Amino acid sequence: MSIEKNLLEIKSELPENVTLVAVSKTKPVSELMEAYNAGQRIFGENKIQEMADKFEQMPKDIEWHMIGHVQTNKVKFMAPFVSLVHGVDSLKLLEEIDKQAQKNNRIIDCLLQIHIAEEETKFGLDEIELFEILQSETFKSLKNIQVKGLMGMATFTENEQQIKKEFTILKQLFDKVNALSIINYPLSIISMGMSGDYKIAIDCGSTMVRIGSSIFGNRNYN
Ligand SMILES: *Cc1c(COP(=O)(O)O)cnc(C)c1O
Repeated sequence: MSIEKNLLEIKSELPENVTLVAVSKTKPVSELMEAYNAGQRIFGENKIQEMADKFEQMPKDIEWHMIGHVQTNKVKFMAPFVSLVHGVDSLKLLEEIDKQAQKNNRIIDCLLQIHIAEEETKFGLDEIELFEILQSETFKSLKNIQVKGLMGMATFTENEQQIKKEFTILKQLFDKVNALSIINYPLSIISMGMSGDYKIAIDCGSTMVRIGSSIFGNRNYN
């Protein structure tokens, strides 16, 4: 299967309100260009340096999403161009993104990552931490970031009920933030679903799926 075919097939299955992030980490620019030439304009990377290198080399009408864990000291390298930061999991990181966004005279959109998986290893906030951040004076004072929604990763398992349960937790938390008007505008993005579980994620209310291997094939980390 070609990248173009994979991409068009996946796109044809997605409901209109669901945005596709093509996760291109580890893949060469030539393969990203195949997706670009097939119409894809949103790419997700999980390493800031790799994303910055690809940004330099590729057309400028691409939206670059940082989907990986972000180290505070690297924010400055993506601040000039990143469109959406999915994995924000602390107020400290939000403050740094705000600071670097200000230096670049921009507003950077962010998603707060919520821990929904059973695995200990996945990053993210719990509900209490989320509300603490959103209700803090510091958060309210940040003028150069905008939190657009929530992001989560389900447990890596074959158990569909488990995955469904975890995505539902994220959707309910999203609805709760909006219902209680915790911030003064509605959240609009729920980033959940990868190659193995995006159909379940969409059933559970995802508005943004992050798909890598089903488009580009398996990754080789060597
Ligand atoms: C790698 C990655 C994806 C894409 O994974 P696939 O299984 O290849 O679709 C999605 N989200 C995050 C956060 C990732 O790191």
